[in-house]
Amino acid sequence: MLTRVSNAKNPDGAGAAYIEAWSRHVSRRFAQACIAPEFHARQHGVMRPPVLNPLFASLTSLPGVGPRLERLYASLFDREAPRVVDLLFHLPSGVIDRRSRPKLRDALPDQVVTVAVTVDKHRPSPPHRSRAPYRIYTHDDTGDLTLTYFNARRDYLETLLPVGETRYVSGKVEFYDGMLQMVHPDRVVDEAGFATLPLVEPTYPLTEGLALGNVRRAMDGALGRLPDLPEWQDETWVAREQFPAFGHALRGLHRPAAPSDIAPENPAWTRLAYDELFAGQLALALVRAHMRRQPGRGSASEGRLRARILKALPYALTHSQQKAVDDILTDLARPQRMLRLLQGDVGSGKTVVALTAAAAVIEAGRQATIMAPTEILARQHLATIAPLAEAAGLRIAILTGRERGAARKEILDRLVLGDIDLLLGTHSLFQEDVAFHDLALAVVDEQHRFGVHQRLALTQKGEAVDVLVLTATPIPRTLVLTFFGDMDISELREKPPGRQPIDTRTIPLSRLQEVEDAVGRVIAEGKRAYWVCPLVEESEKIDLAAAQARFEALREKFGDQVDLVHGRMKGSDKDAAMARFAVGESRLLIATTVIEVGVDVPEATIMVIEHAERFGLAQLHQLRGRIGRGPGASTCLLLYKAPLGETAKARLAILRETEDGFRIAEEDLRLRGEGDVLGTRQSGLPGFRIARAEIHGKYLGAARDDAALILVRDPTLSTPRGEALRQMLYLFGKDEAVKLIRAG
Ligand code: ADP
Ligand code: MG
Repeated sequence: MLTRVSNAKNPDGAGAAYIEAWSRHVSRRFAQACIAPEFHARQHGVMRPPVLNPLFASLTSLPGVGPRLERLYASLFDREAPRVVDLLFHLPSGVIDRRSRPKLRDALPDQVVTVAVTVDKHRPSPPHRSRAPYRIYTHDDTGDLTLTYFNARRDYLETLLPVGETRYVSGKVEFYDGMLQMVHPDRVVDEAGFATLPLVEPTYPLTEGLALGNVRRAMDGALGRLPDLPEWQDETWVAREQFPAFGHALRGLHRPAAPSDIAPENPAWTRLAYDELFAGQLALALVRAHMRRQPGRGSASEGRLRARILKALPYALTHSQQKAVDDILTDLARPQRMLRLLQGDVGSGKTVVALTAAAAVIEAGRQATIMAPTEILARQHLATIAPLAEAAGLRIAILTGRERGAARKEILDRLVLGDIDLLLGTHSLFQEDVAFHDLALAVVDEQHRFGVHQRLALTQKGEAVDVLVLTATPIPRTLVLTFFGDMDISELREKPPGRQPIDTRTIPLSRLQEVEDAVGRVIAEGKRAYWVCPLVEESEKIDLAAAQARFEALREKFGDQVDLVHGRMKGSDKDAAMARFAVGESRLLIATTVIEVGVDVPEATIMVIEHAERFGLAQLHQLRGRIGRGPGASTCLLLYKAPLGETAKARLAILRETEDGFRIAEEDLRLRGEGDVLGTRQSGLPGFRIARAEIHGKYLGAARDDAALILVRDPTLSTPRGEALRQMLYLFGKDEAVKLIRAG
């Protein structure tokens, strides 16, 4: 409640909406919060340090960035309203090295060179043949160079390269018809321009429509906004690691003097990576301390509701489900807060465990919420839970981006009055105006997506909220600490009885035709199959093209029973496609990886994955977990592009060998290092933009210890270093944690 109130002062301007929403929900807890002595002090923690404001301005405030480019940056950074700081953290992927300055005689083909030449003659494209190139002949004292332009404007080139003058041109040279030529030089400058020409230029990951020049120009503007910031790292540590200051590191990376300056191993990149890891660890530590400080409230229950749910189940709980339920009930009955991770493979039956936990707090007269990472999954929770809830007399509702207007308002009204016992939903649950009457338990179904410290913010929607995180990626204890902080763990190691092992096979893509025919035969027999299309890029948009093409081809072949589902579809269309598949109206479902997360159609028995070698092991395991959920025998076909590298071969072999997620995780860790276990990009760490697992992972321990030390020495972050650390937390997007800092 306190934080919600403080948000009214938030510089981002959420205040007005909040107050309006608030006036609709009068709550006694609000009054209590207002008179709490820490209320005023608390607001300090919420203000972003004003010195950072230029970095949090919209990208459109930078030169050359309008709404069109803003949209491209938004998809590149995967964030709705990209800010200057997001651009600054977009680090170079390489450089163009223009330092080579040979005489023409010594220029090597296919090399980027910078040469001083004298302009001899222009030969424009012949009239009516504008497709023919415009050529400009030049020389130095050792040889000749032709500059070639397509679709060029004559007046422009005549000004740029006046006959008789000397110019510096930079670009890649090649031989054409025995002549040295340069097509569209990257740079043409005179003597004065040459003096300021950066000879080493960074290149950046781009997206279609966004040019390198756009990024460089915007980056110059962004660097110009960098304020002088105090050092937030421990000075001794900074000296030992030879870390440059934060601003220095950013400038060094975006304006390299040598190609090696942008290596992730160098001190500049490492410094930023350490900042990022440290911010993550400090945020976790703050959340954890906040949770410890607030005493829990025991939710005692006799198990009346639980008994009704269990009676309504068509099966008995497995041993490990029973054990997990017992652990959770014990936690809930205690006056301390629960912070528990429930790890269990896909299909191990986590939902019913979560529901049982919810039933316990509901029986104590309080509320629970289950948050899913996607809309499909939230709706599926609803479908699974609804009949059980009805049998037990629980009042449930769902809140996602699709509930709007009057329907949404009705849910919110009932929620704050306590007329809803269990609210399911997506990240929509975070919205300001979602207020509970008395939230006691937050279940966060992470599947294998991470970023839990942000999700823990859900606990601010109630008093002493107990937290249960569900994850389908079994991860080693050290990683649990890194990404979840210090949590208790329950594991579901056994599968529900009656599941048959999945027959997993690897097949080269050259046999695609055969695979299509085989799939055609089995769906003709009435079986159901998923067909997962290749990951083309880490963008649903581009993956879509591949899925669309495969869909059209297979539909041509097999007709109406082929359907398509992807992440860019409207929520209702997605659900409709899933529903058609669930009832058997369609029997072959072409999909991008949206089906990865939790979808449950027990009748589906075949899974085809195209370009399996492009997926992470955890992801393949998740995808395969979509089948083998019913009594029928299941088959998984992993189509790969030959030849496979050693590691790829080993990874696919592991999948053939075992379905045990814990074992797969261990093998994966052995093969690839930490990042991939978490099902993220090969080298990325989940939720991190700068730190790379294989290079900076070794700093995690230090970051964790350092964060723990801060919490002991300066838990309110009020020393000068503490103030600086707040800035760091803001820069790395850990504002939620800043809000949890105890008033000083
Ligand atoms: P996940 O852990 O992937 O979330 P779910 O909770 O979706 O798994 O459960 C997968 C399937 O297993 C569901 O259809 C569920 O009804 C079923 N199930 C769960 N527990 C048992 C059990 N003890 N015996 C038989 N089936 C079970
Ligand atoms: Mg699940």
